[in-house]
Amino acid sequence: MKRLRISEPARKIPVMADVDAVVCGGGTAGVAAAICAAREGLSVVLIEKSSIPGGMVTHVTQWFSDFANKGGFPKEFITHLRNKGIDAKPYYNPWLVLPYLDSLLKDADVRVIYLADAVAPIIKDKKLQGVIIESKSGRTAIRAKIVIDATGDGDIADRAGARFKQGRAGDGAVQAISLSQILMNYTAGHISHDKMNEIFVAAVKKSGRKYWQPYSRWHPFPVVGTTNTLIHTVPHATGYDPTDAAQLSDALIEMRRQAYELYDLLKNNSEEFKDIEFGPFSAIPGVRESRRIICDRMVTKKDLLSGAKFVDGLFTVTQGIDIHRRDRKEPAIMCEKIQPYEIPYGALLPKGLENILVVGRCIGGDHEAMASYRIIGDCMAMGEAAALAAKSAVTGKCSLRKISVSKLVSEMSARGYERQGKCKN
Ligand SMILES: Cc1cc2nc3c(=O)[nH]c(=O)nc-3n(C[C@H](O)[C@H](O)[C@H](O)COP(=O)(O)OP(=O)(O)OC[C@H]3O[C@@H](n4cnc5c(N)ncnc54)[C@H](O)[C@@H]3O)c2cc1C
Repeated sequence: MKRLRISEPARKIPVMADVDAVVCGGGTAGVAAAICAAREGLSVVLIEKSSIPGGMVTHVTQWFSDFANKGGFPKEFITHLRNKGIDAKPYYNPWLVLPYLDSLLKDADVRVIYLADAVAPIIKDKKLQGVIIESKSGRTAIRAKIVIDATGDGDIADRAGARFKQGRAGDGAVQAISLSQILMNYTAGHISHDKMNEIFVAAVKKSGRKYWQPYSRWHPFPVVGTTNTLIHTVPHATGYDPTDAAQLSDALIEMRRQAYELYDLLKNNSEEFKDIEFGPFSAIPGVRESRRIICDRMVTKKDLLSGAKFVDGLFTVTQGIDIHRRDRKEPAIMCEKIQPYEIPYGALLPKGLENILVVGRCIGGDHEAMASYRIIGDCMAMGEAAALAAKSAVTGKCSLRKISVSKLVSEMSARGYERQGKCKN
């Protein structure tokens, strides 16, 4: 169906800030990019649409993956959390990560604007000059020499005209979206995957209901440092496009329905869960996959299987391919082993655009590769690499494609990022 369109009248808007770098999205990759860029002496504004920093780390996830071979910001981050008991492998406390991130942003002198959406690029001749944001102050402009798109979805790159791919080849279906929820007053202690499956089967039988389990690999995750509090991401919504506002809203409603169904089933039909209380949901949904921006380099499944090493390799990914069901017929999770491979700088540079970097899960790669490098340690490393690249471009007064890539690669190595790929690419 052809979409009805109207023309928006042109208008003058105030410039809220004029800085070296604007980071759009204060999530996993965005906080790393903003903090590292500000520490390098750049003036930085960070735009985040929710009210807290951290993205998936503080809203959705339960453990940290692929930190072992990382230096720099990811190492500093994980070391702090472990020393403070906020991360007590395998799980962590997402709420205690918040004051830490707040302090890092403040100490680095990052100007953070929360509850603000980065809505459009300021662009001339395919060169980004900043972004337009919508916030409590209305529609305002942030002028910047470099734009770092850390929105997860590549919102700004897309609106600047970058091409993208989404989902699996053929039908474009993306991995399931999830929602995190807190369950309170849980007193039965640690339960293994196997035991949890027994509890499910017994509870379904006792209830006499038909029940489709959205995520079969669930066992209760205790929130570190709390008593009797669980966090879970059982709700899994498949068949929804996370870049379509109506579909994303429908997915949220479906996942809340699934969460209540699970709560009701367990509370009324199992000894272990009889005392649980229904708790709050994460304020943003757990989107595993959306746009993959077409960049100068695209990381492919072939690179993962061969352990690719690139001349512009920034750091190494060791996480395997981890695909959560894209439709209800697939198993809940499908994993495949890989060889350690590198993320090249070119995968952060949207093709055909200047003064913009993408970081996080929206960088250039194929569906299967994204299912590996989308993990927290790797997204933080991308943020740090983008910060160093931005610093080089700003101080050298040159384009992001003209910086010394060998210097960038050496700086990442000097910060402790290991390079482990085998096959030259
Ligand atoms: C359900 C789920 C469970 C996972 N579990 C794990 C796990 O256990 N371990 C692990 O290592 N990885 C896990 N991952 C993967 C990993 O957490 C994410 O892929 C990664 O954190 C994504 O980082 P990002 O910076 O690309 O996006 P995000 O962390 O999502 O950050 C994007 C940020 O941008 C903001 N934003 C979006 N659009 C705009 C806009 N237009 N303007 C302003 N702000 C905007 C968002 O609010 C958000 O804060 C999980 C992912 C999901 C979805």
